[in-house]
Amino acid sequence: MSQTCDILIVGGGAAGLTAGLYASRGNRNVVLLERAAPGGVAATTDSVENYPGFLGAPTGPELMEKFLKHAKQYGTRIDTGEATGLTPGEPMHTVHTSAGDYTAAAIILACGANHRKLKVPGEKEFSNRGVSYCATCDGPLFRDKEVLVVGGGDAAIEGALFVANFASSVKVIHRRDELRATKILQERAFREPKISFLWDSVVTQISGDKLFNGVTMRNVKTDEETSLAAQGLFVLIGSVPNSAWLKGVVEMDERGYVRIDTFCETNVKGIYAAGEVADAVFRQIVVAAGQGCMAAISAERRLQQLTG
Ligand code: NAP
Repeated sequence: MSQTCDILIVGGGAAGLTAGLYASRGNRNVVLLERAAPGGVAATTDSVENYPGFLGAPTGPELMEKFLKHAKQYGTRIDTGEATGLTPGEPMHTVHTSAGDYTAAAIILACGANHRKLKVPGEKEFSNRGVSYCATCDGPLFRDKEVLVVGGGDAAIEGALFVANFASSVKVIHRRDELRATKILQERAFREPKISFLWDSVVTQISGDKLFNGVTMRNVKTDEETSLAAQGLFVLIGSVPNSAWLKGVVEMDERGYVRIDTFCETNVKGIYAAGEVADAVFRQIVVAAGQGCMAAISAERRLQQLTG
């Protein structure tokens, strides 16, 4: 079964929902395809302190619920399904999905990025059995437990601070001796008595019995190996774009981020990208929203050109 719409948006995070809002306000027939619940990675954030105009630091789910309502208010239809392939055409492109094919003259790729994995033995086995990739989602499960966090960026430090609200101790394992996270987060973490740091260390093995119970680490300067017991492990080491299904269709950089021009258009006419799938640098809700808007305006211009 194939459905036709004016603009198909793949992904329902900040970029996709903003694209939906703009595209449907233009009175177009807009479908947004999302494989899980709309909200994207922003909906897994504890509190959003830097989205302009929202001074009260809403939670990620609260803010994304507003994005969703706003897009729906103007008529964006949300369908559930996972995109698996894209066949470009002129003027119509077809996206193949678990819910059938969708054909549209403008496609907006807003399919985001996924959690980067450590790729060490035991990671798969103990995933969701003490090993987590989302501090906001799973932090409360570790009340009075000893927890490890891997990473040194904003997500790791913000995650460590959030988990410290519940856990008895949080040890941050970082591969260097300096954090990448913004200074304000670093200072908060250094002040938090429950948080300590294991510098220059990488996890080489994740262990457990039925549930996760510890890691083996290697000090990258001394090569010394040590074991560390804990009940929870948060792997917060960045993300990889969800673009494998687009390989060979649109141009990407060597890491898989979709290349776009200043109009958010890919190298294929009528296929646009916005948000984390195309942004290796900023990865902020406000940037994703901005690119969603740009992609929708560009898509609208294409539709106007096609219909004369
Ligand atoms: P990130 O900034 O890319 O940081 C990833 C961290 O994980 C780095 O410290 C990196 O170490 C480490 N790492 C990467 N691969 C690793 C591996 N295989 N083993 C061990 N450690 C590894 O990612 P992020 O923290 O997810 O943040 C992504 C983006 O979202 C950033 O632009 C960030 O500013 C933004 N963000 C913002 C907020 C906020 O504004 N409140 C919150 C969350 C995220 P190195 O430092 O050695 O490279």
